[in-house]
Amino acid sequence: MIIKPRQKSLKLLKLETLLRRLPQNHPKREKVEEQYRITKAGVRGESSIDYYLNFIPNQMVYILHHLRLSNDNVKFQMDTLLLSPYFFLIIEVKYLSGEVTYDPDIHQLIQIYNGQKRIYSDPTQQVKRQAYQLRKWLISRKLLPQTTSFPIESVVVFANDHAEFRILPSQLIDTKLIYQNFFRSSILPDMINNFFTLHTAPVFSPKQLKKLGKQLTRNHIDDEPNILEQFQIQESEILRGVICPKCNTRPMLRKQGTWKCHNICCAYEAKFEHITALSDYKLLLRDTINNKQMQIFIDLPNSSGCKYLLKSMNLVCEGTTRKRIYHLPSIERLK
Ligand SMILES: [Zn+2]
Repeated sequence: MIIKPRQKSLKLLKLETLLRRLPQNHPKREKVEEQYRITKAGVRGESSIDYYLNFIPNQMVYILHHLRLSNDNVKFQMDTLLLSPYFFLIIEVKYLSGEVTYDPDIHQLIQIYNGQKRIYSDPTQQVKRQAYQLRKWLISRKLLPQTTSFPIESVVVFANDHAEFRILPSQLIDTKLIYQNFFRSSILPDMINNFFTLHTAPVFSPKQLKKLGKQLTRNHIDDEPNILEQFQIQESEILRGVICPKCNTRPMLRKQGTWKCHNICCAYEAKFEHITALSDYKLLLRDTINNKQMQIFIDLPNSSGCKYLLKSMNLVCEGTTRKRIYHLPSIERLK
């Protein structure tokens, strides 16, 4: 049973928005596009394991996707967490294209794609660190006793069925152990079954488990990366104006209370297109906006016009007339 479903990745949404509002010839564009491709593949990979999770035989399993917690300011995120009365399991998903080789002895994942070689850190180590942090988190909240050896298992799933994936033989680690930790997604149901045969003593009742699942979900912290800071892009480099959703022409012009596309082949009209622009503003810049910032961002140098639009959105605001700032609501509510 899924307790915490997968949400649309805020990082992906921010990258999409940044690409829409970055000039075509901007020097950072290529880097942003690359990050967008990697993030999108990651999201695709994560949802591709859903099919295999349906095969889990035991009904007493709770599933949490995209859970991000904090231990004394150390944030850790798990792609998927399975709670069962017998063990917990963290599943990390890797979705890479091309030729992918895992070298367990030097803890590297090597990808060759389109003639380019990329090196990634060892995902099995990454997921072990998540298991360590999760145990610490549970113990610090007295949800697990300090002395417990309750199993928190972790595995890495390689989710791209069309990519060549191989594991190099190891001189240091038992091959069986490596194959149990890092495998293709189609093996996932068998591997989960193995854990059920390995751990047979129930520690949690279904009721306790459900309560724990809800507690974990309540403590989830959204990952809200500052995307401009990440790529060192200045606010002034971001394209302004309301963008036509049909043909991407910018800026749409506001006439008689309606946004109009000035591309004569398109001529799209809409009343509320400024809301999409404000959503972009929130994703890229900040959670609050004042009249002046609104005038600049939506390219409407008309103070009373902007005031009217802001008022019509019924936003929470603070401060008096000229210094008034408006709080932009969550993206879901803005959309
Ligand atoms: Zn248009």
